[in-house]
Formats: sequence, structure tokens, C-alpha cells
Amino acid sequence: MTSSTRPLLNRRLAEFGTTIFAEMSALATRTGAINLGQGFPDTDGPEEIREAAVRALRDGRGNQYPPGPGVPELRTAIAAHQQRRYGLDHDPDTGVLVTAGATEAIAATLLALVEPGDEVIALEPYYDSYAACVAMAGGTRVPVTLRPHEGAFRLDLDELRAAVTDRTRLLLINTPHNPTGTVLGRAELTAIAELAVERDLLVVTDEVYEHLVFDDAEHLPLAGFPGMRERTVTIGSAGKTFSFTGWKVGWVTAAPALVSAVRSAKQFLTYVASGPFQYAVAEALALPDSFFAGFRADMLAKRDLLAAGLADAGFAVFRPAGTYFVTTDIRPLGESDGFAFCRALPERAGVVAVPNAVFYDHREEGAPFVRFAFCKRTSVLQEAVERLKAVR
Ligand SMILES: *Cc1c(COP(=O)(O)O)cnc(C)c1O
Repeated sequence: MTSSTRPLLNRRLAEFGTTIFAEMSALATRTGAINLGQGFPDTDGPEEIREAAVRALRDGRGNQYPPGPGVPELRTAIAAHQQRRYGLDHDPDTGVLVTAGATEAIAATLLALVEPGDEVIALEPYYDSYAACVAMAGGTRVPVTLRPHEGAFRLDLDELRAAVTDRTRLLLINTPHNPTGTVLGRAELTAIAELAVERDLLVVTDEVYEHLVFDDAEHLPLAGFPGMRERTVTIGSAGKTFSFTGWKVGWVTAAPALVSAVRSAKQFLTYVASGPFQYAVAEALALPDSFFAGFRADMLAKRDLLAAGLADAGFAVFRPAGTYFVTTDIRPLGESDGFAFCRALPERAGVVAVPNAVFYDHREEGAPFVRFAFCKRTSVLQEAVERLKAVR
């Protein structure tokens, strides 16, 4: 311990404290509640991909430091995936960088591109690591709030335009969007692209839920819009798509100059990670379209089960067009404070959820919203729905 009165944690990180997930998961353990708080699947991904990881381990592939940018097999598979699905061309050697999950991709990208004093615009509510990484880079975050309109959280394009200043360095976009389940459509993405070109902004787009879109929603990568190729860093991950969140295999695809900048930061974060898993994910990305369609259909059924149960229990439900989360409004239950509601829910109904307010700078905007994850076994969701009847 230092004897000085100066706090140990530096000022950039002091505001962040412990994540709500730690508190809520501890609450789940203590009360035996069903944990629909944190977004990780309770079953593993495809058996053949697990076996591919075992094979890589046994064959001695990836047990020592893999190449800094990622193993060539995976970089080639990532480039092929972007080409096959979206028609986007990336050179596996210069346009792709493998990272320790999307989390490191976000950190490395912001540390590489943001200068102290730069403003970073992000869509609020946002994934919790965005704010911390902007702070670590010395930037200032500028939230643009998605607000409920006709059953979904919408981006106000005028508000986005008005948020851009001479100090704006980049737009941090996330679609499909966690926690709201919003999938940005062609008109919104076109407007974002036009704004980025007009104001000469970089765009970082977190697309880890690219394969989780439902009904008639379609995932459109921002990098495919006019003028965006040279200014967009696209972030992907195997965790959510293949239900192996513990493997921590993510990636960046971008123009070579941007990849090179991100690599400059990444090499001093983890340097490399997940050696054998990189080979397995290379195989996963090459799975036939039927795998991705099956995964989507499976998650759609889970969404419908949980959404119907929540509506039945009296919540107002925002039916998500993507991701594995349902955001609800608790006001029809006569409640208005999501924090208090979530702290009481394990005792009241034996279920854990997360208050969306933690994803907001403007906490009051998020106060009545609560997020539930549906990436769980059907039997678990059925039990949760049964229990949630207690809140009526
Ligand atoms: C889960 C998640 C991540 C982190 O992905 P990892 O590959 O597990 O690091 C990043 N962004 C969003 C929006 C997420 O939901």
C-alpha cells in the first residue's frame, strides 16, 4: 500500500467501478435465481468445431505464440467470410487482424485512433467496454441516445448530425445493437456513411451479432456503403456466432492503413491469444449456410418464447430484430427504477436481469428499461417464464 492519499485507481478509470454483471451474477448464485443477466450461451457451439480445437491442440498447432496478426488459416477464412456474405474484399495479410475477442479489438482500435481530447460519438445505451476504452485512450465520449419509437429503439439522425463537432474523431456504431436489439437499416446506415464522408470521420463498427438478425431484418455492414471502405474498422467475433464466448477469438477487417494502426496498439495489449482456437474458428467460419440459418432459427424460437413470457408477465416488450437480448419497459408493472427492480427480482421471481441504465451516460433515459438474455436452453427459458408470472 502506498501511504499517499492519492487514490490507487487512476482518474480515467475511477468512474467505472465493478460491472453490474459481477453484482448480478453474485446475486444469482446467492439466491439460486436463473441468470438471464449476462449474455453467454449455456450450451457450447458445434461439436465438430470443439473437436477442431482438440485436434489443433493435439497436433501442436497454436500451442506456441501464433503470428501477431493471427494464423494465416483464420485470416484467410475471415476474408473469405466477408467476401462470401457481403462481397467485401480484404487481403488476408494486410486487411485482417485477429484479436483476443471483440473486446480487445475495441480497445486496440480506440487506443490506436483516439488522441487525448478527441470526441468519440457512440450510440447510447452502449456496450460497457466502449466508455472505458474511450476513457483509457483519453478521449471524450459523446452519447447519442436511441429512443423508443413504435416498439423499437431508434436512432435520431438529426441528433447524430448535431453531435458532430470539429473535435469528433470517430463514430462508434454497433449493429445489431446490444442491449436494445435494434438493427440499423439501409436508410440509417446510408445517412451515417454520408455524415462520415462529409465530416471526414473514421467509423468503428461492432458487428459481433452479424449472424443474429430476425424476421425481415438484414445485417448490412457499414464498410459496404459508398466512401466507407477507407474509413471503417469493422469488428467481428466468434464468441456470439459460434457459442464459444470463452475462446476469445475476434477480429478487425479494414483498409491496410487502419489495420496497421490497430496492430500497433494490439501488439502491446495481448500480442497474441487463443492459438489453437484460431484454427477451430477458421473451420467454423467455413461452415455451410445451413449452420448459420439453423442457429438463427434456434435463437428466433428462444426470442419468441422469452418475449411472449415477458409480455404475459406484464412487461412492455421491445421485440429485438437482432442480438440475444430482449429489452423491456417495467412501467406497465407500476415500476420505474430498473436498478431497484433488478435487485429485487431474484427474491421476487427467481430470475436475474440487468438494468439498462448501466449502459447510459444519461441514466435517467434508461431508468425504466431492463434487459433479459435469451441465449439459454429452452427448458431454462420455460422455467424463467413460469417464474416471471410472479411479478404480475
Ligand atoms: C459480447 C460483445 C462483445 C465482446 O465480444 P468478445 O468477442 O467476447 O470479446 C463486443 N461487443 C458487443 C456489442 C458484445 O455484445
